[in-house]
Amino acid sequence: MPNYIKILPNYLIKRHQAWKATVYEENKNWYNKIAIEGQKPQVMVISCCDSRIHATSMFGADIGEFFIHRNIANLVPPYNPDGDHHGTSAAVEYAVKTLHVSHIIILGHSHCGGISNGYKLCSSEQISHESIFVNKWLNILKPAYKNISKNGNQFREGRVEDLGKESIKFSLNNLTDFPFIKSALNKNELVLHGLWYDIGSGTMETLDPSSMSFVKI
Ligand SMILES: [Zn+2]
Repeated sequence: MPNYIKILPNYLIKRHQAWKATVYEENKNWYNKIAIEGQKPQVMVISCCDSRIHATSMFGADIGEFFIHRNIANLVPPYNPDGDHHGTSAAVEYAVKTLHVSHIIILGHSHCGGISNGYKLCSSEQISHESIFVNKWLNILKPAYKNISKNGNQFREGRVEDLGKESIKFSLNNLTDFPFIKSALNKNELVLHGLWYDIGSGTMETLDPSSMSFVKI
């Protein structure tokens, strides 16, 4: 038996057993029902891996309501059917072509380590060269960085936040290049949303397409 695989730590076993004896036990029939009926989520959420982002809780969503894909900095890469492994594109394809979700939300957030590192990468400030995958992934931010840098490169408070919000617009635009999304949008079967969430204040902002700026909800 390999020595790098261990049984789950006791505190997690206990926490699971407590959930099973309470939440699960009280809703046993419902869990059985959704197991048999399968999932029918109306909403796909693309959020950051950040452990402080809890999409279901901030919308009071129930199990089965949100199809969630998480990646570093909640980015959608450009459409690139090159035969390589593309986790985000695969999740989007499954959500639209198989689950037929009606909404895709890109959920960005404040204090994002991914966006902050991406900012450093794009502005060629000191970044970790030990990362094989993260830096490559954060290259997706370059067009958004270029856009926010049109008015000068000088660092100012909120610039990382600007990049985070700008990247949401670019990710939404990248989504429209996927043929199956283009088709669903044309048939009015799908709509796209950009959201930005401030962790400390709990404030949520939505991208207003008329001004292409974020407004509080
Ligand atoms: Zn993040």
